[in-house]
Amino acid sequence: MSARILVAEDEEPLTLLLRYNLEAEGYTVDSAARGDEAELKLREQVPDLLLLDWMLPGVSGIELCRRLRLRRETERLPVIMLTARGEEADRVRGLATGADDYVVKPFSVPELLARVRALLRRLKPAEIAEILTGGDIELDRVQHRVRRAGQDLHLGPTEFRLLGFLMRSPGRVFSRSQLLDGVWGRDAELDERTVDVHVGRLRKAVHRDGLPDPIRTIRGAGYSFEIGR
Ligand code: CA
Repeated sequence: MSARILVAEDEEPLTLLLRYNLEAEGYTVDSAARGDEAELKLREQVPDLLLLDWMLPGVSGIELCRRLRLRRETERLPVIMLTARGEEADRVRGLATGADDYVVKPFSVPELLARVRALLRRLKPAEIAEILTGGDIELDRVQHRVRRAGQDLHLGPTEFRLLGFLMRSPGRVFSRSQLLDGVWGRDAELDERTVDVHVGRLRKAVHRDGLPDPIRTIRGAGYSFEIGR
């Protein structure tokens, strides 16, 4: 079955160009010219990947991405943000909002297609994997075991879920509220500092002398799992 891609873009010539090239690659393509229209389509059916323009009428790409990450059905939807801006601050903001990748306009179509392929490859197997591997860390979701460099690690239940959550999307930056939603559940009424406390415990539990810290802190944005990348 071919992967389904939703293109949310208000520049019609670009939408047509993307549709043509993506269909030529064998993907099934749907499109929306407004943010709110894309949001409605995403509620009806979740695609395998979303190409999302930063500046969209209705609901902006940034806002739409933020909302998607708060919904269980779309919290892991692969998103590539398309944007005309290239400043580092915007890039960090885009990733912190939950985009998996980022392409600056004007981009080359072959480059974009390569990123689409890479993202689908990267995220698909992890979604169903029972054993998550990142660098020298291995997390077995069935046996509830974590090993680092061949040695068993002892994690509390929350740290285990937190690590699993981060490891499923290596390199993606999650905000504290996204982590609260994803690890503790939407109804948990907890302070965002709770996240910091458990990240601290997780860091301690996975620490081995001479080995890198797998959890990266992104100031003002959140945390990501970054080992072995
Ligand atoms: Ca636009």
